[in-house]
Amino acid sequence: MPTARPGKLVVVSGPSGAGKTTVTRRVLAEPPVPLVRSVSATTRQPRPGEIDGRDYLFLSDEEFGRRRSQGDFLECFQVFGRDAWYGTLKSTVAAGLETGNWILLEIDVQGGREVMRLHPDAVSIFIRPRCLEELERRLRGRGTETEGAIVRRLRRAAAELAEAEHYRYQVINDDVERAVQEINDILTQEAEKTCSTN
Ligand code: ADP
Ligand code: 5GP
Repeated sequence: MPTARPGKLVVVSGPSGAGKTTVTRRVLAEPPVPLVRSVSATTRQPRPGEIDGRDYLFLSDEEFGRRRSQGDFLECFQVFGRDAWYGTLKSTVAAGLETGNWILLEIDVQGGREVMRLHPDAVSIFIRPRCLEELERRLRGRGTETEGAIVRRLRRAAAELAEAEHYRYQVINDDVERAVQEINDILTQEAEKTCSTN
């Protein structure tokens, strides 16, 4: 595992329900590079089982707004219309990179674009399902959203899929094992690039 080399930002995006959390959790459990997940801030309500500080920093609208006007975020957006704010804190990314880690940002396409603009060397990966019907099956199967939220996420999915071409890599998550392996291969390849340019 290369540890003395500088870390990279790894941006992972894809429509809600594509399997980003499932796949990245597996990659993070046994990564081929020293990879840590950036914990985002959000104003949405925690889902059952989610823990503040581990899954997200759950902030009130006021606190999020205060930190936003202070310039604390590397990027922040309202992901589902006016539903809720999500953002990556500059301090989280800086702390990770300083210790030589690679930082995984699981963020939406608006945030992805902004991070790629600010960090053109970021490794960008778009995770997608084979088709929109499969996405709907997974969202319904997960059972964590109301009907209204599912409809909003599906509507948004089409727009997100149109952004896929801006990502350096695309991974189809038909099979979790295969998607995990593909991402591990991408990270290994990117680590080798870092070695050959240093
Ligand atoms: P996201 O983080 O992109 O919103 P999740 O990881 O929560 O998506 O996955 C959405 C649902 O789809 C979950 O119930 C998960 O168990 C399921 N899922 C993830 N990957 C696959 C796959 N390759 N095949 C079938 N179901 C999957
Ligand atoms: P969820 O509510 O299902 O956890 O996440 C919804 C969406 O918000 C996902 O597409 C996820 O990638 C995105 N998201 C999570 N954190 C951030 C963030 O910090 N910034 C941005 N732009 N999007 C985020």
